Amino acid sequence: MAEGQGSVGEVRIKPDRLHDFTMAICRADGSSAEEAKLVADHLVLANLFGHDSHGVGMMPHYIQNTMNGACKRNHHATLDRDNGAVIVVDGGAGYGQVIAKEAMDIGIERAKKHGVCVVGLKNSHHIGRIGHWGEQCARAGMVSTHWVNVHGHKSLVAPFGGAEARFTTNPYCTAIPRKGQEPIVLDFATSQVAMGKVRVANNKKIQMEEGLLIDAGGKATTEPGVMYNAPYGAILPFGLHKGGGLAVICDLLAGALTGGRTHSPRTIKKDGTDIINNMLSIIIDPDSMGGTAFFEDEVDNFIGWVKSAKPQPGVAEVLVPGEPERARKLDREKNGVPIDTTTWQQLVDTARTVRLNDTDIPQMPGA
Ligand code: NAD
Repeated sequence: MAEGQGSVGEVRIKPDRLHDFTMAICRADGSSAEEAKLVADHLVLANLFGHDSHGVGMMPHYIQNTMNGACKRNHHATLDRDNGAVIVVDGGAGYGQVIAKEAMDIGIERAKKHGVCVVGLKNSHHIGRIGHWGEQCARAGMVSTHWVNVHGHKSLVAPFGGAEARFTTNPYCTAIPRKGQEPIVLDFATSQVAMGKVRVANNKKIQMEEGLLIDAGGKATTEPGVMYNAPYGAILPFGLHKGGGLAVICDLLAGALTGGRTHSPRTIKKDGTDIINNMLSIIIDPDSMGGTAFFEDEVDNFIGWVKSAKPQPGVAEVLVPGEPERARKLDREKNGVPIDTTTWQQLVDTARTVRLNDTDIPQMPGA
C-alpha cells in the first residue's frame, strides 16, 4: 500500500518517516539527539509490533509532561542502592526510554557477573512497552521477568469484584532468549486492555468489545468514553481473580518492594496526568543455572512441542508469545504504520506546540 490515506479515519505512514517526525518533535522540545532517538526507536517499534497504545500516540502526553515538569528531559538513571546482585535505580522522572535502558544495561552487566541481578527501578517517567526491556535482556542472552506499576496517573482499573478503579494497567513481562531465533516475549497489561487501546477506540469513536469496561455504577459497557468523561468507569482486570491478583502483585513488587511507591491517594497527582513507572526486574544468566546449551536445547524442544499442537478450528497456527508482534512488524514495514486521524492531528498539534518547522511535519493525504 502506498503511503497516505489508509482505511477510513486513518493515515498510513512509512516507519522511517514516522521515526524522523517523532525524533524531530523530541529534538524541538529540547531532548538531546540520543534521547530523541531512544524515544523514537521505542515508540515506532511499538507501532510496528501493533501496540499502537504504546506507539507515537504517546508523544502528546510526553510533551505535555516535559512542559509541565512531570517528565525530565535529558535526565539519566542513578544507582540509588548497590548490593552487587541487587540494585535500586532511581529514574528521577527522566524519560523512561532512557532510564529503563540504562537500568537494564547495569542489570545485564551484573547478571553476567553474578548469574542474576534483581533491579528495582523506581520513579521513571513512562517506560512504554515492557517487552522492549525484556528484548534488551534477551539480546544479551539473559532471561528476564518484569513487574510494573504506575503512579501519579489517576486510577484506571478496578480490582477483581470492585466497581471503582484502584490502580492502573500494571503490565507484566517475561522474555526468554533463543539460540539463533527471536525470543519468546510474553508482555501484557494486567487489565483486560491497555488504556492506550481505549484511547485509540475513543479517538476513532468506536465501541469496544464486551467484557472490558464497566461504567461508574459498576455495570458492563462497551463505551470507551466512560474512561474520559465523568462520572468515570473503569477497565476490568484480565483473567478474573487470577489476573486481578497479578495486578495487585505488580503494584506490591514494583511499587512497595523497590521503594518506588504504590498507586494510591498518596501518589495520585491532582490532575492525574503524570505517568511514573516503577519496575521490579529479575535478570538471570541461563549459564548460572542448568547451563546455556541445556537451556537452549530445552527451550527449542518445548516450543517445538507446543507449536506442534493441532490448531483449533478457525486458527491458522499455534503461535508463541512474541510471534504475533513480529508478523505485524513485517506487514507494517511493507504497508506503513496506520495511525487514526485524531491521533495524527494530536501529533501535528504537538509538533506545532514545540515550534517544529512546517517542512518537518509530514503532509498526509486524508489527515
Ligand atoms: P496484548 O493483550 O496484545 O497481549 C500481548 C501478549 O500476548 C504478547 O506477548 C503477545 O505475543 C501475546 N499474544 C497475543 N496473541 C497471541 C497468540 N495468538 N498466541 C500467542 N501469544 C499471543 O497486550 P496488552 O495488554 O494490550 O499490552 C500492550 C502493551 O502495553 C504491552 O507492551 C505492555 O507492556 C504495554 N503496557 C505498558 C504499561 C506501562 O505502564 N508502561 C502499562 C500497560 C501496558
